[in-house]
Amino acid sequence: MENGAKSVLEKYRKMRDFARTSEPQGEKSRSSVKVKSQLRFVIQKHAARRLHYDFRLELDGVLLSWAVPKGLPLDPSEKHLAVRTEDHPLEYRNFEGIIPAPGYGAGEVIIWDQGTYEPILHGEPQKKRNRIEAEKLVRQALRDGKITFFLNGEKLKGEWALVRLKNKETDWLVIKHKDAFADGSLSEKTTEQSVVSGLTLDDIKKGRKSHKPIQPRSMTADKGIKKPFPRFAPPMLATLADSPFNKTGWFFEPKLDGIRALTYCHDGKVELLSRT
Ligand code: MN
Repeated sequence: MENGAKSVLEKYRKMRDFARTSEPQGEKSRSSVKVKSQLRFVIQKHAARRLHYDFRLELDGVLLSWAVPKGLPLDPSEKHLAVRTEDHPLEYRNFEGIIPAPGYGAGEVIIWDQGTYEPILHGEPQKKRNRIEAEKLVRQALRDGKITFFLNGEKLKGEWALVRLKNKETDWLVIKHKDAFADGSLSEKTTEQSVVSGLTLDDIKKGRKSHKPIQPRSMTADKGIKKPFPRFAPPMLATLADSPFNKTGWFFEPKLDGIRALTYCHDGKVELLSRT
């Protein structure tokens, strides 16, 4: 399906001017995706001409997409309309910001929820399936016009189904299944904020920046130069700054009280050195 993703995204690309919008073009091949990794989903809240939620499920290297004006229902007695839109590139799940006007979908976007999903077969979430088997199930369900799935989101959890209507190819209904999560507790989690930045659509519109703590990035050392073992490495000391920032070569960690020490490991000997 690797070649498939490219042609599938043709429609997505034709609708956008990438010289103007910062939405991703979708260049990455999916060769880096691990077979054991779970399929992902994202819900973006989008203040376009009409406010709606974009519900996207990963399949075959792209994001199947539906515009859901009312968002996913939390109550099993409600059915919400979901209109299938063009497949989006996988990287789109990380998109948050402003789509400039004039342009397709102009307006603010936040990542309202994200996580992984499992297709449901005969009423059971297929947790143990690997990605190849899970994608096969979703592909078949998509063809059949009924996709049932379990969402493992930061806000949403539980089972939902997408059912295609007979009158129009693009019209689907999204329905909440009766499960242990359909007890009203979901609504407490459905806040207005982005699960990534903590910002609301209004914050994005006003140009506010995130106050969420910056997540430490995993660090990998560059290739080093061989040098004799240092007798003393001067420790880095805390520096005052006006606000948090994000720069290459820096990463942040929570400040914990205690003793800071330097550890020297050399010739089978370990030495701890602190200021006191
Ligand atoms: Mn949208």
